[in-house]
Amino acid sequence: MIYYKSPEEIELIRQSALLVSATLAEVARNLKPGMSTLDVDAIAEKFIRDHGATPSFKNYRGFPNTCCISVNEAVVHGIPNGHILKDGDIVSVDVGVYSNGFHGDSAYTFALGEIPVHVQKLMAATKVALQKGIEKAVTGNRIGDIAYAIQEYVEKERGYGVVRELVGHGLGRNLHEDPQVPNYGRRGSGSVLKEGLVIAIEPMVNLGTRDVEYLEDGWTVVTRDRKASVHYEHTVSVQKGKADVLSSFADIELAEKNNPALNAAYMN
Ligand code: MG
Ligand code: MG
Repeated sequence: MIYYKSPEEIELIRQSALLVSATLAEVARNLKPGMSTLDVDAIAEKFIRDHGATPSFKNYRGFPNTCCISVNEAVVHGIPNGHILKDGDIVSVDVGVYSNGFHGDSAYTFALGEIPVHVQKLMAATKVALQKGIEKAVTGNRIGDIAYAIQEYVEKERGYGVVRELVGHGLGRNLHEDPQVPNYGRRGSGSVLKEGLVIAIEPMVNLGTRDVEYLEDGWTVVTRDRKASVHYEHTVSVQKGKADVLSSFADIELAEKNNPALNAAYMN
């Protein structure tokens, strides 16, 4: 069942979502080669707790950490560990924050140092795909319109693969609520978007095959062909008929530009 939020509840979700964004900006300021993914996780956890909030993912269905950190061919749900990041890696960091009774959820993919142009293009395309989905999150449209817009751009226009097994979701008092928000599908299908809907839109886009598999840790999802995968996510509400994006990439992108260890060239 979809739970539609009041404007007051949406403002509380916005606070959580903006703290997720601030956490990702803190990661963007500090990320560099030589760090382990566990180091990155510790930065995020400290930042969230210093702001009086709780990491949503920690202990969620047994997940052990604050962030999902998915490097290169990892799509999502990477468990932070001693793996050392190096120049040329792409690093997806997915964070959730719980505060004042509500969750926010957002993810961002960073490029460490020089990465191949074809991977830069994949990153840019995934960010555009997220925007294409958001544009369809307006009253009267259906979930399938968001899904179709993302898939059409990613697969038809760009020739990449949209992951099928993992999808976006409603959120609010719970991290995952109805409806599911797939990144592929038919126009005009699924639930009608109504005032007060809050969803995480999160395209996961693969350079090669769309197919994925799980690593032995039971969490980490990787591309079957081990080619790169990129993930961007926003928490989005439908208010006054329009999409109101509750998380923000502005401070993350600024930090990304100002951190010499990160390559933001794909934004050109
Ligand atoms: Mg997320
Ligand atoms: Mg999510």
